[in-house]
Amino acid sequence: MSSRDPVADLRRIAFLLERANEATYRVKAFRSAAATVAALPADELAERAAAGTLAKLSGVGDVTARCIAESLAGEEPVYLRRLQTTEGTDLQGAALKMREALRGDCHSHSDWSDGGSPIEEMALAAVELGHEYLVLTDHSPRLTVARGLPPARLRRQLDHVAKLNDALPEGFRILTGIEVDILDDGSLDQEDALLARLDVVVGSVHSKLRDESPRMTRRMVKALANPHLDILGHMTGRKVAAAGGGDKGHRAGHTRPPSTFDLDKVIEACVEHGKAIEINSRPDRLDPPKRMLTVAVEAGCLFTIDTDAHAPGQLDWLRFGCERAALCGVPEDRVVNTWEMERLLEWTASHA
Ligand SMILES: [Zn+2]
Ligand SMILES: [Zn+2]
Repeated sequence: MSSRDPVADLRRIAFLLERANEATYRVKAFRSAAATVAALPADELAERAAAGTLAKLSGVGDVTARCIAESLAGEEPVYLRRLQTTEGTDLQGAALKMREALRGDCHSHSDWSDGGSPIEEMALAAVELGHEYLVLTDHSPRLTVARGLPPARLRRQLDHVAKLNDALPEGFRILTGIEVDILDDGSLDQEDALLARLDVVVGSVHSKLRDESPRMTRRMVKALANPHLDILGHMTGRKVAAAGGGDKGHRAGHTRPPSTFDLDKVIEACVEHGKAIEINSRPDRLDPPKRMLTVAVEAGCLFTIDTDAHAPGQLDWLRFGCERAALCGVPEDRVVNTWEMERLLEWTASHA
């Protein structure tokens, strides 16, 4: 009997929905069904499929039950086939070359803060995308709306990641990290000793985004001078209307103008301290704007191309950042996540 793996099919559907920026509840239906099916003995699953009682399982609905039944019958689920035929166009030229050069992602979230999935699911998706590493960068304590991690929870997360790494395939590693808030005075929202322990530190402004330019400039420059900070996350904080798909509630009216600051001074600080500017690939951010990115390229900055993924399928958003990097002429060797992992870690250790 040539039955397919229903768990793999359900997970693939969830991945494609996330990648298309579809509503969270829709993705959840497939991830919950996958978890339910994975926990069920194979014979019980087959019996239920035969009896038509799959939808009686908690976590499985009519749509997901149909997918499971089709998988078990050895057919590609209709839902999956339709998703695959409407996939986006492929990358070309310089953008494709950049994408192929990327070895990992330096900005991602799990359900320890405001992400939707456990760390292991994020890691498995990264493995499937061919990454050599994924930097886990959950939020810092003051960002309570995003369930930022106080020091004790971050310590527990570090122990957890160490255990997960032991079980993950050879040639892949979860790197430890944080997306630390750059506070009003330019200091970083986590204990120094912990920041020093982490592999990679992304620093981002999430509060008082409308600070006046001189204040915001001081704040960013001070953070960049902090030896713990490696990468400046989504530098302007802008929100743009995501093209295609998207949560209904996240689309209309959810835009935000970029913060104002002295771009030359901020870029100068990046170059002086050897810090990287993140090219944030999220369709609702695409930060920094191309105009600023071009200035940073000319000034000799380092960069990262990151997804800021909050779900496994979003890890494939690197393509959007690669397109922008290619358009703005970002040289491959100045993108730190094209470097071998050892070189990346030497670089982050070199200023902290
Ligand atoms: Zn952020
Ligand atoms: Zn983030």
